[in-house]
Amino acid sequence: MQRLSELVIRPETTARWLRHSLTRAHPPQALLLVGAPGVGKRTVANALIAAWLCPQRTPDGACGACESCLKWSEEGSHPDLRVLRPSPDQIKIESVREARQWMNFAPTIAPFRFVLIEEAHRLNPAAANALLKTLEEPPPRYHFVLTSPASDLLIATILSRCQLVRLGVVPIAELAAILVARGVEPAKAQRIAELSEGAIGRALRWSQTDAVEWQTLESMLALFATLGSAPSVSALRLAEQFRALCKQLEGGADETSARTALATGLEYLLRWYRDSLAPPEKRQFASHHAALEQLARRTPPAQRLEHIARITEARRAILGNANAQIITEDLFIHLLA
Ligand SMILES: [Zn+2]
Repeated sequence: MQRLSELVIRPETTARWLRHSLTRAHPPQALLLVGAPGVGKRTVANALIAAWLCPQRTPDGACGACESCLKWSEEGSHPDLRVLRPSPDQIKIESVREARQWMNFAPTIAPFRFVLIEEAHRLNPAAANALLKTLEEPPPRYHFVLTSPASDLLIATILSRCQLVRLGVVPIAELAAILVARGVEPAKAQRIAELSEGAIGRALRWSQTDAVEWQTLESMLALFATLGSAPSVSALRLAEQFRALCKQLEGGADETSARTALATGLEYLLRWYRDSLAPPEKRQFASHHAALEQLARRTPPAQRLEHIARITEARRAILGNANAQIITEDLFIHLLA
């Protein structure tokens, strides 16, 4: 279990607020951690809960040595914590009911008990209503932490019961420096920081040596880098390679579906085209300057804008029920026309 003080938390105001909250006698009744995917919501939630479950906590977090701290398992479970998360894409009422049963008992070892609800916007309506009842009349010494990419994805009645804490991204240059300090080779650190858009949780995951997702995205950018020079006859081959790379993004900890994986690939393609339209000093994929310039020379800006509209439309169609092969082949034929 990581201590709060070991985490890079941005903005600074959030980091200070979280530290200060640990000096109080009681945790907030319900806390909602909001931030973009990969920003580290789960990690911060766990460090915060570990601190509250520790009778000897300091503003730096849990002590790591007391009876309660020693109860944390390798997998991040604790007798005074229940975690609810989507399985596969919804949190159902059974999970909330099961948690409410658990809430009939006093804390086992810690001064409080916590229910962590990851991706709380995935509570289905029945589950959200059941949770709301619990939030309205929580048993003594029970507290809640919810996470979500955006606050407006939650129903207003739940939102109004939560103290909102926003986690932000880390500036690209600062993030690259953090990765270098942790032993990542500088050029790779820069590329990871760019691709993660400053989401530090994701960047740290990608900087591990066996990060398949990162290797896939690197291959995807390498494929995009050929769009400035590839002949139009290679459109179908590139579309096939693109689909194969997206396939590698399926599954994983988030149980990504085939359509979501394809949509994610198309989002990176969108970012690539948008980046080609940005002035060089403002580009996100600064490491790919030469390839973006080549694309800019091949395709006039007006046509790239039209391509952006096509990619957006393709993404929408994929998330609908369209045939992935037809959509991606049609798209790459247009991109290379
Ligand atoms: Zn402790």
